[in-house]
This record gives sequence, structure tokens and C-alpha cells, in this order.
Amino acid sequence: MKIAIASGKGGTGKTTVATSMAYTAATQGRTVAYLDCDVEEPNGHLFLKPKIDREQPINKLIPVVDAGLCTHCALCSRACRYGAIACVGQKTLIFTELCHACGGCVLTCPVGAISEVPKAIGQLRTGSSGAVRFVDGVLDVGEAMSPPAIHAVKDAAPKVDLMVLDCPPGTSCPVIESVRGCDLLLLVTEPTPFGLNDLKLAVEMARALKLRFGVVVNRADAGDREVWDYCRRQRIDVLAEIPDDRGVAEAYSRGELAAQAVPHVAERIRKLLEVVFQSKRG
Ligand code: SF4
Ligand code: SF4
Repeated sequence: MKIAIASGKGGTGKTTVATSMAYTAATQGRTVAYLDCDVEEPNGHLFLKPKIDREQPINKLIPVVDAGLCTHCALCSRACRYGAIACVGQKTLIFTELCHACGGCVLTCPVGAISEVPKAIGQLRTGSSGAVRFVDGVLDVGEAMSPPAIHAVKDAAPKVDLMVLDCPPGTSCPVIESVRGCDLLLLVTEPTPFGLNDLKLAVEMARALKLRFGVVVNRADAGDREVWDYCRRQRIDVLAEIPDDRGVAEAYSRGELAAQAVPHVAERIRKLLEVVFQSKRG
């Protein structure tokens, strides 16, 4: 089962929930993998403290144009949805920092003038944290396109009972790449006006992608009740509530897993896993 943990904004406790779920499921005897898809700022390793067995470069395939074959028809430029190719006079220019490595231009070129070459954009790391298999990706500084690196992280996932994907914050391309193909999306939010606003955006994304999803309210007793009212009106299940607790913040600052350090969080995470696996059976 693939569970993606996302939130409309950063700082809601997404990684706390994701790492704690992976750890707790492994203590229950399940085979588990934790995938940190937040390749611009991966931080799951701070809490799971994995032993890294393998590091390898992440490459994306970028197009190159054979000037001898190019007829300057501009079909590739018109086909590229990301503005990464421009035909200017007798030159066809590729802006690799804008390229999403989709391969569309290669298929479009009528004379086969475009081929692809690998370009390193980051590092893929695999290892284990106790019984949890661990994968993360680290995008090179200055590299703007994270979806190919996220793709590499997901490709490196081992076969397990439960895969926990810790997604980047927001609702843009990197999140969509991360949640694509998941069985269940958990949207972590907090009961504040900002939390509610970003939850609404995340719900729109989940619905547009036709994903099964539910909400986890973190710091549940720290704000107002608007998030619950919204979920009730929208018929969205609130699958777990994690109370505000200084102990969680202290564990976070020490780089400890919340489910290991704070007993009542461990209990909430166990219940959340029960709900998640029951929903699969249902
Ligand atoms: S590979 Fe895709 S994104 Fe990159 S230049 Fe070609 S069409 Fe554009
Ligand atoms: S589609 Fe091919 S031939 Fe046409 S401009 Fe692009 S590279 Fe050149």
C-alpha cells in the first residue's frame, strides 16, 4: 500500500507523521519503506537516522539538437509546454534549467535532430533505519526541476507491505509527481486560518487527481474548529487528530521520532495505521 503524506504548506508536521508511521508500522512486523520525496529539502533522515548503503547520481535526460540535421521548423518549440526550447533564426536553443525531461521534443522532431544525454541533477541515497527501508533524493543546489529527482526516488522503492511517501509542501508539480499513483493521500493540516486555506488548495489538488484522501489534524487543540467544520461540509474524513504537545516539539528539536519519544503520539499513529489498513480492506 502506498500512502502519500502531504500538506498545502510547510511546517504542519508532515514529516513527523510520515516518519512516525513508517517506524510504527515496522514495529508491527510489516515490511515498510520510507521515501523522502521532498528532494529540495529532505529531512526525514534527521529522524530515522538511516544507515546509507548506496549513493548514486540522479540523472535527467536532456535534449540536444544536431545543428546539421535541424531544419528550424520550430515544431519542437511549439510542442514544449515548459518553454524550454526556442527557435531563433537559424538556431534552436535549449534551456536545460527549464526542461522537465519529458522527451516530447524528441518525439516531435520530424527529422530526428534531437537526441537525449544524461545530466546529473542530484544524489539518490538508499539504506535502512532498523526495519524501515529508506530512500531519499537530494537535488543539487541551483537545480530548479525536482520532478525527475522525485521520479528517481519513487523508482528506487523496494517491494514492501507499506510505502510511506513524504511529499514536498504545496500543491505544485513536485507534489503532483510525488502523490501520483498513491493508494491513499493523507493531508496534514493544523487548525488555523492559514492551515485551512492551504488545506482547501490541497483538497482541490487531490480531487483533480481523483485520489482517495483523508485529513490528519496536527496540533489539534491549538487553534479553532474551522478545519473540522470545513471537512464536515465537504464530507472529508478526519482520520487522526494529534494534540499539541511540547514533548513533540522537543523531540523534533533533538531529531527524535515523535512516535518513539511521546507515548500518546505513538498511540494516535497506531490508530491511524489501523484506520488506513481498514480503509484498504473496505
Ligand atoms: S524534454 Fe520536454 S521539457 Fe525538455 S525541452 Fe523537450 S519537450 Fe521541453
Ligand atoms: S523539431 Fe527538429 S528540425 Fe524542427 S526545429 Fe526542432 S530540432 Fe529542428
